[in-house]
Order: sequence, then C-alpha cells, then structure tokens
Amino acid sequence: MAVGGSAAAGGGIGCKGRRVNDMIMGGNLGIQTFQEDLRTMTKYARYEHDGGVSYGIVEGNDVHEISAAPYEEYERTGHSVGLGDVRLLAPVMPGKIIAIGRNYVSHLAHSASLVGGDIDLPKVPEPFFKTPSSVVGPNDPIVLPREVTEEGVLVEEEAELTLVIGKRCRRATQEDALDYVLGVTCGNDVSARNWQRGDLSWWRAKSSDTFSPIGPYVVTGLDPDNLLLTGRVNGEVIQQSGTDDLAHNCRRIIEFVSSVVTLEPGDVIMTGTPGEPGEIKRGDVVEVELEGVGTLSNPVIAEE
Ligand code: MG
Repeated sequence: MAVGGSAAAGGGIGCKGRRVNDMIMGGNLGIQTFQEDLRTMTKYARYEHDGGVSYGIVEGNDVHEISAAPYEEYERTGHSVGLGDVRLLAPVMPGKIIAIGRNYVSHLAHSASLVGGDIDLPKVPEPFFKTPSSVVGPNDPIVLPREVTEEGVLVEEEAELTLVIGKRCRRATQEDALDYVLGVTCGNDVSARNWQRGDLSWWRAKSSDTFSPIGPYVVTGLDPDNLLLTGRVNGEVIQQSGTDDLAHNCRRIIEFVSSVVTLEPGDVIMTGTPGEPGEIKRGDVVEVELEGVGTLSNPVIAEE
C-alpha cells in the first residue's frame, strides 16, 4: 500500500479572482458558457428530478438548473432544488473516454517492485480507450460480471484525476491545452486484472458495463497539476497522491492525444492511477476523492 505524497495538501487550488466572475454571473438568467466560468470554481452536476434529467450549478446545498450542458451556451432556468432531493448522475455523457496507463511514478515504482526491476518511465503518454457504455454515476453499483465470479478474476479500483473536455480540440499545444478543458472530476478506472493480462486487448478488462464511474461534479478553475487524489475501499485509504506525481501531466496528455484524435466537448480523459490499487469485491464500497471536487462513492455488487 502506498500512502503519502500529499504534496498538494493544504491548498493548491489555482483559483484567483473568483468573486469577480461571480458578480458577472450574478446568479440570474443570462447566456453564458463555461469559458466565463473557467476562472471561477463553478461546480456542475447532472441529475434526475421528477422524472427529468437536467444539468445544473451546485451552490451550497442547492442545484440551480441550466438550459444546456455546461460546455454549451446555457442560461439559468430559474428552477432550483435541494441536492438531497435529486439523484446525481454521471456529470457528463462522454462520446469517448481516453485513459492513460502507467502514468504515476508511484504506480511505476510498485510495478517495478513486483518484478524486481527499475522504474520504467514511458517516454510518451500511453493512452487506451474505454467505452462510454461503461459509465455510471455517483452511488451507482459497480456490477462484477458473472464470469468474474466464476473464473476468480481479480478486480481492482483505480482512483484517477479525470479531465472533462469543454471544446473541440485538435493539435493542442502544452501552452493552450488547458483552454480546452471544462473542468475536472473523479474517475474510477475499474480493472479486471486477469483479463487485462490474458486477453489480446483490454476491451472487457476496462470496459465491462459499470467499469467507469465518474462524478460527482465537474469543477472548473482548479489546477489539475496540484490536487490531492485519494482512493478508499470500505473507508480505508488504499491510494493517495498529489497529482504533481503524474509522469506526463495534463497538458502533455492533451497535446499528445489531440495530435491524432479530435477531442470533443464532453469527452473524458482519465489520467492514470497512483501507487498500488486495491481489490474490490461484492459488498465493498469504493470511493475516489479529488481535492476541490468531492467524493465519488460506488457500492460493488455481483451479477446474479
Ligand atoms: Mg487506469
């Protein structure tokens, strides 16, 4: 278990002048886009209430409905509801999910210790795809497929800083990469290890239904290079790291991926997992906490 490296503890949120933009927003109606919110710390949710699904801005214990997705032009509709009266959903529905493997120094050190070798830092980011159909939201169960139980497959959580793209992006540079980011959220890159090692590709190891929980909110205005990331199973801290331990930081990831793949609004990038992930089994509760965002919590059940 690797716990420590809390380089981002005690702050690290790169947010200045937020009150200026709050005044612009004014809490009233009026068209705006996330671009105006980038310098603030706006917290976006997607939720179900009274049989309908909406996007909204969370302020205190209330969520204020907006007319469109946060990466589109939207207005506040004037409808608000208490957070306790809604069911939070995955905060976006991505067209694609890109995840980065082998991207924390602490994770690589753990891998090296298993084989008695040196830390092998990848020269470039190592992306792979997860399917949008594997996305679930806060408090939704992670369902272990029947074959996991029958074959005795090891399934582990992977706590990850997760980027949400805000506008179309092709050939970003490291200088402008974060201009394309709406905000950050928590992600869990659930991984079936035996399938990851034994199959030709990672299709079911990483993309079985429910293997991509994200949420609870997308938060703008945070510095993704300097946040504390924590993974827990049944309340026990399994993984903890500052995101400054990323081998390839968010700017470099976006530059590398967008050199060949167009990123679209709502797309999601899971940026890698630190330390040593922990096993998850039926009956467990797994949490991913990201500083400034909150905690993504999911129970684990088994398919009957
Ligand atoms: Mg991962």
